[in-house]
Amino acid sequence: MKRIAILGSTGSIGTQALDVIAANPTLFEVFAITGHSNVELLAQQARKYKPNMVIITDTDKYSTLKQMLADVDDVKVFAGMESVCDMVAMSMVDMVLTSMVGYAGLQPTIAAVKAGKTIALANKETLVVAGELICQLAAKHRSAILPVDSEHSAIFQCLAGEQDKSIEKLLLTASGGPFRTFSMEQLAHVTKADALKHPNWDMGAKITIDSASMMNKGFEVIEAKWLFGVQKEQIEVLVHPQSIVHSMVQFTDGSVKAQLGMPDMRLPIQYAFGYPNRLPNNYERVDFTKLNTLTFEKPDLERFRNLAFAYYAMEKGGNMPCILNAANEVVVAAFLRDKIGFLAMSDAMEWAMQTLPFIQNPTYQDYVETDAHVRKMVAEKISL
Ligand code: NDP
Ligand code: MG
Repeated sequence: MKRIAILGSTGSIGTQALDVIAANPTLFEVFAITGHSNVELLAQQARKYKPNMVIITDTDKYSTLKQMLADVDDVKVFAGMESVCDMVAMSMVDMVLTSMVGYAGLQPTIAAVKAGKTIALANKETLVVAGELICQLAAKHRSAILPVDSEHSAIFQCLAGEQDKSIEKLLLTASGGPFRTFSMEQLAHVTKADALKHPNWDMGAKITIDSASMMNKGFEVIEAKWLFGVQKEQIEVLVHPQSIVHSMVQFTDGSVKAQLGMPDMRLPIQYAFGYPNRLPNNYERVDFTKLNTLTFEKPDLERFRNLAFAYYAMEKGGNMPCILNAANEVVVAAFLRDKIGFLAMSDAMEWAMQTLPFIQNPTYQDYVETDAHVRKMVAEKISL
């Protein structure tokens, strides 16, 4: 029985992870769940799954949650990020799913890695911001990081039984999002509602905007570098609008392996939870006779500049990816409140990368300070 802590259980990945656990009650148990603002859903989940602990990271909501769960025995209620960091290090925890959104995932992921836990990593922002630090800590504390992101899960599955030195390149597929075929003129006028309609995946708001702007794919390039220890030149993005081939690996002999499946995040979540075993399920299967075509094309870095920003930040290293991530979090939140246009998001990120202080060898504290400073400066720049 694996005891799993789910950080961000109230989100899109978190709720699907709970479904996977509920479908495999003899294999997995929910040890703890955390949420930030959605106190009603968190309380509902606590009643249903009876975890040992439930934590609300927004401390203002603690008393409401405590009241809601007053009649539930055996579920301890806590609040705040410090509680999350203490919880993930507890000996009872076998695996930590990092499915909270954004930079907020960094601190508890570091705590879990330092405690030598197995991480099922959905929160890609952690590796974008501090990939080098996380990899060093994971090696030192023997913490295994299993990818949940569908592309990285696909690559991980393709690499089973292979040696790292046999990798020639990773072929990271991208749906291209809802604006794949849009001109610059059209992109200048897209709305939040347009951007929130992803053609193939149903996800949280932030990652849905990141997918429409290709920032998500840029972050996934950086995520792949750290997860699989490859160089920039070895990561190629291919736009594949059908989202059936989740990614591929080309080996040094020219052979290519791909992982295919229906677009359903429960599959990579289940693979990480069950690893190294494959678990049966009854999710929808690929019907090859109904797939008319699978197409692949090069991404357009002129219309989707964010992807080029990510390659630049990755090459530059240091705190540059942290600057890009913090700027992106500010502009996406602003876009979701109709405070900034779609293309202006990229302009603000470019400004941040060109203007704000670069640090070549950042410490953890430098990341914390960079994140706070960039947020403040970008908010000022776009007059929030
Ligand atoms: P959602 O927005 O659906 O959920 C985010 C979760 O994080 C919620 O539980 C939310 O709590 C919590 N949260 C929000 N802000 C904070 C904070 N400041 N501190 C602590 N917790 C917080 O996001 P997704 O599930 O879509 O994405 C989660 C992560 O997984 C992201 O890093 C994303 O990139 C990654 N991912 C997601 C995929 C998907 O299909 N959704 C695919 C691949 C990766 P509450 O709702 O209670 O406020
Ligand atoms: Mg992905």
